Amino acid sequence: MKRRTLLKFLAAGPIFGAAGHVHAAPPKTMKDVEALQANWKALLAPGTPVPSAAEPLKLSKDEWRKRLSPASYNVLREEGTERAGTSPLDHEKRPGVFVCAGCGLPVFSSEMKFDSGTGWPSFFTTIPGAFQTSTDYKILYPRTEYHCARCGGHHGHVFDDGPPPTGKRYCNNGVALKFIPQKA
Ligand SMILES: [Zn+2]
Repeated sequence: MKRRTLLKFLAAGPIFGAAGHVHAAPPKTMKDVEALQANWKALLAPGTPVPSAAEPLKLSKDEWRKRLSPASYNVLREEGTERAGTSPLDHEKRPGVFVCAGCGLPVFSSEMKFDSGTGWPSFFTTIPGAFQTSTDYKILYPRTEYHCARCGGHHGHVFDDGPPPTGKRYCNNGVALKFIPQKA
């Protein structure tokens, strides 16, 4: 390998962290973001079942209550908001995939996460097709609410003050997510 090719390879490739985990550099261009969206399955633990958004999960209120913790039920089914700083997933930094706590649909990869300092797990993009959006007026100004494309569960709100290049901040309730580390 020529030196110039090697440097190019190193610049494009992942950076190995101190713990031996692979940390991808944050994306610089929308092309990088599209690559994250296309390659999220590389972070999925082997053998993880992946439901499809094309197979909707519809349950009654009672069935949801049985299936979810009270905190998850409040957020996913009643559009509640967890208290900032209460989710251990806010500090989750391992490689892996975040799935909907209601139905298991993969919604974010670890490479889409950033530290927003808000006290909620935050992401600058999503796995394609994971969410649908609506506008809510729960507080005085309109906000874009987003919910799981498979089970309709509410996850959070998306704002336009995220990091470049997307400029988006998906502010997600931790109790609406389940994290599956790439390596057990
Ligand atoms: Zn779901």
